Amino acid sequence: MANTTTKDFSLLDLEEVKLFVNGSWVTASTDTFFTLKNPSTKEVIANVPRGGRDEAKNAIEAANAAFPQWSKLTANDRADYLLRLRDLMLENEEELATLMSMEMGKAFGESIGEVKYAANFLSWYAEEGRRVYGETIPASSPNKRLFVIKQPVGVVAAITPWNFPLAMMTRKLGPALAAGCTGVVKPASQSPLSALAFAKLVEKAGIPNGVVNIVAGKTQEISDEIFENPVVKKVSFTGSTDVGKTLVEKSAKQLKKLSLELGGHAPFIVFEDADLDKAAEGALASKFRNAGQTCICANRIYVHENVKEEFATRFIEKVRHLKVGDSLDPSVQIGPLVNEDGLNKVVEHVKDAQLKGAVVLEGGHIKEDGDGYFFEPTVIDNVSKDMFIMSEETFGPVAPLFTFSSDEEVIIEANDTEYGLAAYLYTSNLERAVRVSESLNFGVIGLNDAVPGVPQAPFGGMNQSGYGREGGHQGIKDYLEEKFISLSL
Ligand code: NAP
Repeated sequence: MANTTTKDFSLLDLEEVKLFVNGSWVTASTDTFFTLKNPSTKEVIANVPRGGRDEAKNAIEAANAAFPQWSKLTANDRADYLLRLRDLMLENEEELATLMSMEMGKAFGESIGEVKYAANFLSWYAEEGRRVYGETIPASSPNKRLFVIKQPVGVVAAITPWNFPLAMMTRKLGPALAAGCTGVVKPASQSPLSALAFAKLVEKAGIPNGVVNIVAGKTQEISDEIFENPVVKKVSFTGSTDVGKTLVEKSAKQLKKLSLELGGHAPFIVFEDADLDKAAEGALASKFRNAGQTCICANRIYVHENVKEEFATRFIEKVRHLKVGDSLDPSVQIGPLVNEDGLNKVVEHVKDAQLKGAVVLEGGHIKEDGDGYFFEPTVIDNVSKDMFIMSEETFGPVAPLFTFSSDEEVIIEANDTEYGLAAYLYTSNLERAVRVSESLNFGVIGLNDAVPGVPQAPFGGMNQSGYGREGGHQGIKDYLEEKFISLSL
């Protein structure tokens, strides 16, 4: 195997990667594998068993068998397991981050940040699980007593994307396990290694067999088993809107509970009264995090006409200094795009914008740096609504700038999207901050804040960005049934 694997890993043997089902490490029944390549170098990292229907079925059965015991533990006992798992993640953060950077190209420093973020979902929900309170309701006759109790829904399935392989997994598993559910994770095919290394920690934490299972491989087969097997009571999906829509159809047959964290097209608005340095720093963080491959990335940067030139100068100065390169180099800030398709989409968006009149102020080209899928951090101006970049997720390091002249105009423009995940505004005017925040049709608002995601707050979208909320006390609700008990004395 290639020389990226000369790194020593204590959690995974990259020469012999296996799936995690019922506390055992297994290969696929078909004895087939898929090959993972490092997007920074195109070197082969590992061959991963191509799990399919059999493995998914076994995993679901294992989760079902583990459910009675796990769900009957006290919330305190489950919290102990989750906190142990959190500690193990932090103790192994370098290895988890290295695997993540190798498999999907996130810059190493950001990967470390993601491990910490992911671990925090476990501790937050360890505590939140202790606060799953029921209700008593005043009855309408003296001989009745009315109660509501909350119980885990049962076996759940989590389907996760490659761009936040660990955080999107623990944002689902944290509340699921805390609520008393057991489950199956299907990680993205681009990023199964960090999920499987996490499974090693599940084992080390002593979490009983079958409570957590991880099956990668044949996407369609695994997904069909998840949606057709009546044992699975809830599916939590994070990924693209197109796939999300197909899952809504699939969930209808059994009316399976489904939550959807989908794509976004975030406006980033800089008003004339904004602190321009803070706004430029925020735009940099929002746009270029994970090389522009996040669902809440700034996709459209609107700047008031009176400060446009000044903002552009300060922003470009910062963009110019971003270091692009191999994601394992700790000094790199921008890694590669995840794969060739990802790179081609960015190239296509920039070319389309130029053909329709956009002007490149900075970057604009593939960055020839070894064999990886690198694109220069790019800023473009003169952008118009008919460009792909205006309606589709570019998922790359390209920042389009727009000019606006009034609050009314920019609110209409910002809301002019089928998505509704995140929006940002920078202003020092309190009245404007409140009014505009209330007018934006998005589930998450970054008000002078470019990085709004935290475990203790609800995260999720409106419109075609999906439904359901993850994080916060809201995030555990989907994993609980509310049962009404009417007692006649
Ligand atoms: P994706 O192609 O939709 O894949 C997401 C997951 O779904 C992967 O595990 C994928 O497996 C699986 N999948 C693909 N096709 C499927 C099908 N027909 N049936 C069942 N599962 C299927 O998305 P992605 O490219 O990994 O992730 C990027 C997208 O996720 C972007 O749109 C981004 O905005 C969104 N996202 C949203 C949030 C949020 O919180 N709202 C967070 C992160 C990312 P394979 O990898 O095997 O294809």
